[in-house]
Amino acid sequence: MAFIQVAVPVPLRQQFTYTHHKPLEAGVRVVVPFGPRKLIGVVTEVLSQHSVEDTTKLKAIIEVIDDEPVIDKVLLNMAQWLWQYYHHAPGEVIHAMLPVLLRKGESALPSAQDILTVTERGKKTSLETLSRAPKQKACLAGLLAAESLATTARKQHGAPAVKALIDKGLAYVDSRVPSFVEGAWLTQLALGDKPIPDTEQAVAIAALNRSNNQFAVSLLEGVTGSGKTEVYLQAIEPILQHGKQVLILVPEIGLTPQTVSRFEKRFAVEVGVLHSQLSDSARLQVWQRAKAGELGIIIGTRSAIFTPLKLPGMLIVDEEHDESFKQQDGLRYHARDLAVMRAKQQGIPLLLGSATPSFETLNNALSGRYTHLQLTRRAGGAKSTHQHVLDARDQPIHYGIAQGLLGIMRQHLNAGNQVLVFVNRRGYAPALLCHHCGETVMCKRCDRPYTVHKGHNRLQCHHCASTRSMPSNCAACHSSELVTAGTGTEQVEQGLASLFPGVKQVRIDSDSVRGKDKLHDTLAAINRQEYQLLVGTQILSKGHHFPHVTLVAVLDVDGALFSADFRASEKLAQLVTQLSGRAGRATKPGEMWLQTHNPHHPLLQDLVNNGYGHFARLALTERKAAGLPPFISQFVIRAEATDSQLAYGFLQGCKGVFIDQASCQINGPFPCLIEKRQGRFRFMLVCSHSKRGPLHASLRHALPFLQALPLATKVRWSVDIDPTDFS
Ligand code: ADP
Ligand code: ZN
Ligand code: ZN
Repeated sequence: MAFIQVAVPVPLRQQFTYTHHKPLEAGVRVVVPFGPRKLIGVVTEVLSQHSVEDTTKLKAIIEVIDDEPVIDKVLLNMAQWLWQYYHHAPGEVIHAMLPVLLRKGESALPSAQDILTVTERGKKTSLETLSRAPKQKACLAGLLAAESLATTARKQHGAPAVKALIDKGLAYVDSRVPSFVEGAWLTQLALGDKPIPDTEQAVAIAALNRSNNQFAVSLLEGVTGSGKTEVYLQAIEPILQHGKQVLILVPEIGLTPQTVSRFEKRFAVEVGVLHSQLSDSARLQVWQRAKAGELGIIIGTRSAIFTPLKLPGMLIVDEEHDESFKQQDGLRYHARDLAVMRAKQQGIPLLLGSATPSFETLNNALSGRYTHLQLTRRAGGAKSTHQHVLDARDQPIHYGIAQGLLGIMRQHLNAGNQVLVFVNRRGYAPALLCHHCGETVMCKRCDRPYTVHKGHNRLQCHHCASTRSMPSNCAACHSSELVTAGTGTEQVEQGLASLFPGVKQVRIDSDSVRGKDKLHDTLAAINRQEYQLLVGTQILSKGHHFPHVTLVAVLDVDGALFSADFRASEKLAQLVTQLSGRAGRATKPGEMWLQTHNPHHPLLQDLVNNGYGHFARLALTERKAAGLPPFISQFVIRAEATDSQLAYGFLQGCKGVFIDQASCQINGPFPCLIEKRQGRFRFMLVCSHSKRGPLHASLRHALPFLQALPLATKVRWSVDIDPTDFS
């Protein structure tokens, strides 16, 4: 009889012991009884008999699902680190790491698929006979080296080429279980044309090559367009050649077909892609092929950090400052921090790249914990964008745009260039109010003004997404004079149409470009110069290049200057810098104007005159002086309830527990920045300590007491380690 420790997917911070007639390998899935239910858990270890106190009450494992572990040792160690560091339920951690189909108990082994194989005739055919059909030739050449999934071949060479080969009797398709081949990409690996790296790139590539085969973290701090991606490409070349895999994490919105095709073109290999819009079975397939060591390059968003790698060679986190790497609910992990852990466990290098590194990473680089690589110039001779502050005080404002800015826009438009106008809010206006009594139309569930959407002629709450019809009268005084306040993208779009009649414009926000294809089509049309005026939100700041844009106008930076969140200035600086990086290329230098009522604000001045790098270093010294992260560690306990007293009271209780037993600094309870959402009042307790160890120790010690508080079952509460925002 063996005693098996199992992580069962329930929200309890513990594992459970079961019996089985023989020991099981850690990492295999099992079906276990849990109360009246049967759940799928993962074996984490086999316990020795004397470590189990009472063996009489133990239940037996019902079924063993896998012959081989679905989670290897490294990932299991990572899981352990995750549940300890984030103080989360082990079973939920392991579930979060597995593809959805495996959570549901499906087989981890590949299932039958359409496979394209060369026929005997194909083997005897000279490739030269296909020289007038280069796609067929390339496809056949590939098949001569190895069979291929039919879907892959169609993606790489086009469906017509595959069909032609089949029609000619040179290849055939049949359905069977594919045999994934370790290092399969090596037979295809080719090196496309590459530019000669400039001095800074060459230094970075050489430094990265030196750290191959060992753990090391490097920050590649390179201004936008400085050729960071080119550094990634050249740095991973020897890794791929040595039969090692590379896992690249990119922000949610940065995973474009262009990104993927850049890697595919350079190396002529298939890239495994993982993102949230993939079907569960497609996801499982990439997971299987990565685990089998068949895919050389895997590119994915946040949760791709859990992809198993048989032949790990390097990890890359592109745009490492991006907020989408932090999961904001459930298991609140940060994929970048996890990447550091993973690289360490696997003994491989990790490369973090950004034009606007997070303060956490920059601090690690400046203090020497990370290797600091810098690219200070744009590649290919492109000029960087000149930034200016536009003083909007005492100027007439038209649809949110200051008079002075209109003149500048006109110059750029007259010169035949594109102008990008950034607005931080979608919709027509962020509020609707009564002109007679001043009453604002509020979402009752969130106590926030509704945003006016003229497109749908409805009001929408941007906190809970609920909508309602446009009222015709004020609910308080019945006046029919309702007016909008503030400016959103829809209004700017409408305004620009009347200010610049005849100039073709396009709006890009999550309302106008729903669906992945719509965004890509719009971006392509912009680069074909089908539009001259681009109006949009955050989406415009992420990764896309607009070579014909010579002016970027940011309409409202004042909100972020006076935010209660100490990270607001970091986020504003990142946004502004990323936006300015979208404009201008070698032949067309760009400029950027930040419209503000606070033209002398030191932050703006520093950013505009000295750039992000300088701003960030200065801001870091301020954070240090103020005793803020990354110089101290924090966690937040959030609580929400329909009765605000319960949420507040629970956190008061938590505070009592900490004050009784810990040395950390406790602030709050405060209302969260979003005080109410979906009918629930939200509060937080912020706990800080200059050292991470004692902070975590006190939380670990306190958790059982927090769970036992009378209100613990009456409110929704969660622990957020290293919080990145207080909303
Ligand atoms: P980033 O990732 O920093 O935004 P990219 O790698 O995309 O920068 O490079 C920006 C542009 O400059 C791309 O078109 C790229 O092909 C080009 N480029 C990069 N490095 C060089 C180089 N050494 N010589 C010429 N062009 C380069
Ligand atoms: Zn009124
Ligand atoms: Zn709401």
